[in-house]
Amino acid sequence: MATLQLKNIIKQFGDTKVIKGIDLEVNDREFVVFVGPSGCGKSTLMRMIAGLESASDGDILIDGKRINDVGPADRGLAMVFQSYALYPHMTVEANMGFSMRLAGVPKEERRAKVLEAAKILQLEPLLDRKPKALSGGQRQRVAIGRAIVRNPSIFLFDEPLSNLDAALRVQMRIELARLHEELDATMIYVTHDQIEAMTMADKIVVLHDGVVEQVGSPMALYHHPRNRFVAGFIGSPK
Ligand code: ADP
Ligand code: MG
Repeated sequence: MATLQLKNIIKQFGDTKVIKGIDLEVNDREFVVFVGPSGCGKSTLMRMIAGLESASDGDILIDGKRINDVGPADRGLAMVFQSYALYPHMTVEANMGFSMRLAGVPKEERRAKVLEAAKILQLEPLLDRKPKALSGGQRQRVAIGRAIVRNPSIFLFDEPLSNLDAALRVQMRIELARLHEELDATMIYVTHDQIEAMTMADKIVVLHDGVVEQVGSPMALYHHPRNRFVAGFIGSPK
């Protein structure tokens, strides 16, 4: 199980405060979606949760334990970015197994884990290919596969589908929903796409200029937006 709590998280770059005191609870196995306009701090928040960026103030807790000082590799989470840089000279299998290789996991065990993830992602026929011989959607699946093999209790997705065309995005949304079911994992997903937020989320967090405007289920936000900003973002008539 994995819960995440943010307590009064602040992030400053030099004199500029970009995250201005965020409190948030993510429950075990919840699919939480962060939405908000470009520059509102979504990626910065994700990077702090991942441990790629330190918080200027506040506490980050996983399962009740403060993890601010725990390194990214030891937080039990995995992040998938928009620009899923795969190693071009490595096969799909090597790309997916790379983090395990670094961690010293034996070859047979790596192969077994990669095969298991490849099965879930329907990548089995592609394991010997190099990234340049894959479509955009297949590459994105490899990036997700790299995250799965690490057995994270929390997945962080930062606009993972925004480089894909519309039809593929629809297909990947369905696949991610299935993955969420199958892996029983907690997922935090950033998007600026309202449809993605409305269809995928158990809970939507609307961010604006470094603060949380509102948190709620898609239906709650749609029917009871707290203000015009939320209404505008969720697309409700208010
Ligand atoms: P989003 O992902 O919502 O588009 P970001 O988290 O990337 O927003 O950025 C939030 C704000 O923080 C922006 O104004 C951005 O310019 C600023 N910012 C992000 N990273 C840095 C950095 N390393 N140094 C200075 N400013 C940054
Ligand atoms: Mg971003």
